[in-house]
Amino acid sequence: MTAEIINGNEIRKAILEEVKAEVAQMKEKYGKVPGLVTILIGANPASISYVTLKVKTALEVGFKEIQDDQPADISEASLLALIDKYNNDPEINGILVQLPLPKHIDEKKVLNAINPDKDVDAFHPVNVGRLMIGGDEAKFLPCTPAGIQELIIRSGTETSGAEVVVVGRSNIVGKPIAMMMAQKGKGANSTVTIVHTRTKDLASHCKRADILIVAAGVPDLVKPEWIKPGATVIDVGVNRVGMNEKTGKAILKGDVDYDKAKEIAGKITPVPGGVGPMTIAMLMKNTLKSAQYSLKG
Ligand code: NAP
Repeated sequence: MTAEIINGNEIRKAILEEVKAEVAQMKEKYGKVPGLVTILIGANPASISYVTLKVKTALEVGFKEIQDDQPADISEASLLALIDKYNNDPEINGILVQLPLPKHIDEKKVLNAINPDKDVDAFHPVNVGRLMIGGDEAKFLPCTPAGIQELIIRSGTETSGAEVVVVGRSNIVGKPIAMMMAQKGKGANSTVTIVHTRTKDLASHCKRADILIVAAGVPDLVKPEWIKPGATVIDVGVNRVGMNEKTGKAILKGDVDYDKAKEIAGKITPVPGGVGPMTIAMLMKNTLKSAQYSLKG
């Protein structure tokens, strides 16, 4: 049996089309569109390319987008004042500060200064707490875990009562997706196990999983014989394992031995083209939601 491939690029496209349609409706009904500000400090090439993609996507779906570039030597106080300005700007629904920040700035202090109701990355402790409570309380879900859950839902995988095993316990992927899958509600109601480097017998846990979510950052960590036949496998790992000499681009590999795993799994995400494309789509969805909440008052 060869697994059905869960195509993140196609699902991303469908989500962005849905967001675009809702933005158009909002414009027609209220004469408003969601506003997103991306704050870029300095000129780190990787940060520039991430911000460029976010700006491009935001404009494509019809948002008002402000790209606010600041010099690398901006003081912490000036950056905090800038965030405060956007916190109080009714036209802005989402505030993104591109990381990493220069060393003289306290990253935690800056992220915690963002109004939680405009924190579309959902990293603020208030939003982490809201996620834990779940239901209507969870205004925004962090983008990569939200993308993972969306892939699971849209691939038609049954989650209610399913055994979910999450490999990895980071704050940005492992812990939030584990909590989201354990909540009551759509795309959840699962029985969840989190495994990590101190877990005894990783293989035996993975073998139980109806849904296996792997976010370890170790190429080919999950062996094909650890996969339950028919399971849905979500590979979050992005590992650079070499360079393609012809294209000059990095060769990417996930955390799962994909070629062999796809002969055993029921559904599987490729790397690249699985989870990766989903993150920005969920960021746009969060910004739309923020604007919708602000219209409700
Ligand atoms: P991280 O902060 O490094 O966390 C990795 C987790 O995996 C840790 O909890 C670690 O356990 C666990 N782990 C590592 N090696 C293991 C092993 N041999 N056995 C069992 N557990 C192991 O990483 P992250 O930020 O969550 O990212 C994970 C991967 O996802 C990376 O490849 C990253 O590039 C990728 N990623 C992709 C996206 C995207 O596509 N949009 C977004 C975010 C991350 P301990 O806690 O015990 O150390």
